[in-house]
Order: sequence, then structure tokens, then C-alpha cells
Amino acid sequence: MDFTQISLALCLALLIASVECKQVLVDLSHSLNADNHRWPTNDKFELIVVANGTLDNGKWYASNNVRFSEHTGTHLDAPAHFASFDGVYSAATIPVERNLKTKCISHCRLVGPLSVINLKEKSDADRDYRVTADDIISYEKEFGKIPEGGIVIFDFGWSQYWNDFEGAFGSQSNDTTTFHFPGLGMDAAELLVDRGVYGVGIDTPSVDYGPSQDFPVHYYLHGRNIYHLENVGSMSALPKGGEGVTLVVGAMKIDGALGDQSVLLPCLMKKNRLYPRQLSQDTEYLC
Ligand SMILES: [Zn+2]
Repeated sequence: MDFTQISLALCLALLIASVECKQVLVDLSHSLNADNHRWPTNDKFELIVVANGTLDNGKWYASNNVRFSEHTGTHLDAPAHFASFDGVYSAATIPVERNLKTKCISHCRLVGPLSVINLKEKSDADRDYRVTADDIISYEKEFGKIPEGGIVIFDFGWSQYWNDFEGAFGSQSNDTTTFHFPGLGMDAAELLVDRGVYGVGIDTPSVDYGPSQDFPVHYYLHGRNIYHLENVGSMSALPKGGEGVTLVVGAMKIDGALGDQSVLLPCLMKKNRLYPRQLSQDTEYLC
């Protein structure tokens, strides 16, 4: 893994986000380290020190190699993860081109208007909760219809369990039949497809709820070229519902990859520069 690729992806994301408007960026990505919890079939994250010290010439040099699963930490599931058809996107082929004249709404699939649907009360009552179409319709009554080309993320407050395997998976075992965490129901997935979203995110380890053994939501959404974002970080600094926010998905372009670690940067479009902690209900958003 080359850190140059990571840097280029991040710089591209920042460049795209900064072209059009004054904004505040919030990082929704978890940091990677060897303590990260992970899906049982994924390799553990490794940072291998290549050099870290003073060279013979007296000058400092430090560099590492890293090794990790495609589906590590806050990550993108490319549609080719669970689907195979002509035109299915792998991690490196999801379109990033966009028409700058269209301002914040674009046809770029990795940059789009964000909707954040908070269902923490539902998962507090039931760890195996599955999002319903009615949950999405309730959100739309408050915040408006989810836009075509948008990215929807479900917030269950699960970021509190980062690096806590038992908290995140509801089990002490690597046996996937013992897992308990919330995900999407099929009627919710069908409604999101009807809305024409480009990406569906969640702060739990999978868009399919913990007890699932056949992953119907993965097959259904990836079969329609819709990507996933999983293990999304805390959304507490965002405006309620993600209103007025554009999400930049800083995915690495790894040829042939079926997923990759992603940097998620919601761009808060505002008339005045403020920092996230200063946001209030009176803040006026441009788009
Ligand atoms: Zn997945």
C-alpha cells in the first residue's frame, strides 16, 4: 500500500470540496490501528515500520508499510463486492467526474447531498433493529424528500463502540451467527433505490443487520450499482438530519479493489465560516 495513493485521494477530495464554496469540513472516519475491531474474515491492521530514525548522513527519515483488509475501519463497499454484471463499479471505477456548474448537486457518485437518519432510539430498544421504509418516510416529512444522487447514512450511535468488538457486534465470539447489531430492512433498501441514491452508509459493521447470514441488502443494493459506507464515525457534529451538507467520499483508487478504507468529509455549506461546535439551528446553509 502506497501512502501516496491515500494522500492523492484525500487531496482530490479536499480540492473538490473547496472549489465551490466556503465550508467547514468534519471527518467522519475512524483512525486505523491494530486494536480496531474487524469482521472475522478480515486480516488485522498492521503498520510495519520501514525506517524511523537518523540516517548515516545525519538526516531524519521515517516511512512505514501498511497491511489491511479492503473492508477495514470506515470503508467503502464497492458494488462489485456482492454483484457481477457489465458496468458494475469496483472501488477504482466509481465515477468521480462532476459538472462544477451544477453547484452542490452533481452526478458524481462520490460527492453528493447527505441525509443522516438518526435511529438511535430504535436500536437502544432493539440491537437487531432493521430500518423500515416508514423510518425513511418519517425523516422525509421533517427534512424533505431524499434527493436523487444523494448519499444516505443511518446513525445508530454505533461509533461509541469503535475498537470495542463486543459492543459493536453484540458478541464475544467470531461466530457470525451470534452477532447482534442494527442494519437495513429490505423495504428500506427498496425505497432508497426508488429515490435514486448513489450511496448508503451506516455506522455499524454492515448494512445487513447482525443476525443476517445471507446479506440480502448487500446483494440488492450492489446489484443496482449502489455502494455502501460502513463503520461510519460519529455524526454528532453535523446539523440535524445532515441538512445542507454535501458528503465527499475520499475513496482510494485501487485497481480491482472491491472496497477500501475511506475518508469521509462532510462539507457544511454555509454563508459564514463557523466551526462545527458553533453550529446552531439559526445557521443558514447555502445548499
Ligand atoms: Zn459491507
